[in-house]
Amino acid sequence: MTRIALLDVDGVVADFTGTLLRTLGSSLTPADITEYDIFRLLGDQREQAYAICQDEEFWRRLDVIPGAAEGVEKLRSEGYSVYWVTSPWYTCKGWYLARGAWLKEHFGTPYRHMLPLSEKAMVDGDVFIDDRPDMVVAWWARRGDGVSLLYDQPYNEKIDFVVEFAPTLPRFTWAGYRDAPGIHELWVEGFSRVGRPEAS
Ligand SMILES: [Mg+2]
Repeated sequence: MTRIALLDVDGVVADFTGTLLRTLGSSLTPADITEYDIFRLLGDQREQAYAICQDEEFWRRLDVIPGAAEGVEKLRSEGYSVYWVTSPWYTCKGWYLARGAWLKEHFGTPYRHMLPLSEKAMVDGDVFIDDRPDMVVAWWARRGDGVSLLYDQPYNEKIDFVVEFAPTLPRFTWAGYRDAPGIHELWVEGFSRVGRPEAS
């Protein structure tokens, strides 16, 4: 049976933060974004940032996170069918088609492999990768034998809004996966280092 890898898009394969800061002409860099809600850090550029996110063109020209294309290919070569679990940006009318076109352009993804939803723990799969710690914990709690990984970002290092064991989640980067024998081995190695959390 084909194994399923569920991948988040923003912050995992699409550089939402970097593209937004560049589009804004902000003096901040992605390394300055050390909390999950980027809009809180944008000061008087916050409204402008919201306006940018309502424009579907923004979603069509997001930068690809370095190593993501090769990483997704490696997942596929390991036998995984890749599906995208991505929270819709509800205030952008053209978001769905823009996101689908972007995934098709960069990852050759058919539209039926895009699952726009926010409650990602509802989706069954064998691997789950997301940059939101609470999402990773929620998915893992429902599917305890699945490979659940937190994509490493500056804004999820200091976690102040989620479960207490989130800091012990195995962290994932495309470079780390490139150098690992496989995704399952990477996950096992991550847990052997930090210790597996108990489900609440
Ligand atoms: Mg994300």
